[in-house]
Amino acid sequence: MASDNTRRGFLRSSLGASALALSSGFLGGGAGLTSAPAVAAETGTRFARAGTFINYNENPLGPCESAREALREIIAESGFYRFDLIEQLQHAVADSMGVSVNHVQLQPGSGWTLLFAPQAFTSASKSLVTADPGYEACEQQAKMSGSPVHRVALLPNGAHDIDRMCSFPDAGLIYICNPNNPTGTITPRSAIISALKKKPQGAVLMVDEAYIHYSNEQSVADLVASHPDLIVIRTFSKLYGMAGLRCGFAVAQPALLERLKRQGEDVVSVTAAVAALASLKQPDLVEQRRSYTASVRGEVLAWLRQRGVRCTDSHSNCFMMRTGRPGASEAAALAEHGVHVGRAWPSWPDWVRVSIGSREDMEAFKRAFVAAQKQPAPSNASTSTTAMRLCRAAALA
Ligand code: PLP
Repeated sequence: MASDNTRRGFLRSSLGASALALSSGFLGGGAGLTSAPAVAAETGTRFARAGTFINYNENPLGPCESAREALREIIAESGFYRFDLIEQLQHAVADSMGVSVNHVQLQPGSGWTLLFAPQAFTSASKSLVTADPGYEACEQQAKMSGSPVHRVALLPNGAHDIDRMCSFPDAGLIYICNPNNPTGTITPRSAIISALKKKPQGAVLMVDEAYIHYSNEQSVADLVASHPDLIVIRTFSKLYGMAGLRCGFAVAQPALLERLKRQGEDVVSVTAAVAALASLKQPDLVEQRRSYTASVRGEVLAWLRQRGVRCTDSHSNCFMMRTGRPGASEAAALAEHGVHVGRAWPSWPDWVRVSIGSREDMEAFKRAFVAAQKQPAPSNASTSTTAMRLCRAAALA
């Protein structure tokens, strides 16, 4: 793991993420696993923000308690590269996914792979095939490199339209996000298996499981061993509450990982590594957080539907709601009441994405929704924020 290449990559790597991670204010302190309100109450630090932020599909619970402890302990060791810890994480990830260790590539966030996969697998003659609405990181990268992009509308039930997505003979990379961002809808495993059979030979299928922990769907990572053209990507940014720490990984056969590596390589910071390691050791963490989010999601979706608002059938920590006006106007109206929701997608202009925060966050959302209904939308309906201007990832989230 600590090869020369990896080491060089690390030397170039994410000082920004480490600096963030090391600040005790950013980390906050000991909240219980499912006590989102306790976490919210603790944000009286020098980094606290005013308002409710349910705009980037983050997890208000933040890192679990044992990850926080590990973070506090690693601060003194952070002057060292500690490749041993990174190697430990690689093994722990492989074990947790039930795959061989050489099938795992750690990255500072799965956004890394979304950036490099289009460079590795698309070209002027090899297209990207993606869903609409979908997460656009790959699409933007493919377009920047001059690769053609085929956008395929989701099916009415919110699943990816596998038949259509597999029908482009020039496909170099087919991207499936499951559950999908922004809709939170599911594409069944059986459909992904059929995509592996139907896709053009040589096309790479990339399944983004950033939000799979929030659903009851089975991962397709077990299929990597028998499918040389399959990549599964995961992140610690969502259910594990580590978005600011930057840790994710790709699972694929070594030859495919090698093609990705040629585009660029990096490793995670020691802070991210110890927090991820500690999180993986918590046996009930996924189930506790999944059920907390499911219950908050169920409440808010029922509340909106009772009011006649159409919402997507989400199995994730976000959903789309159809507003009676442009989605950007709805977002701006809610922001006037201190609640920051996500954005609209060009193909669904009168829908807006809402992330599932804590129960308190969603109570604030309901109050803002009622207040916003009573007044006309502000004239400046832009959802642009400083963060969106500064950070490509924020603009995509
Ligand atoms: N994949 C999807 C579908 C996402 O929504 C995001 C971030 O919002 C990512 C990947 C990237 O996550 P990260 O780079 O934080 O691991």
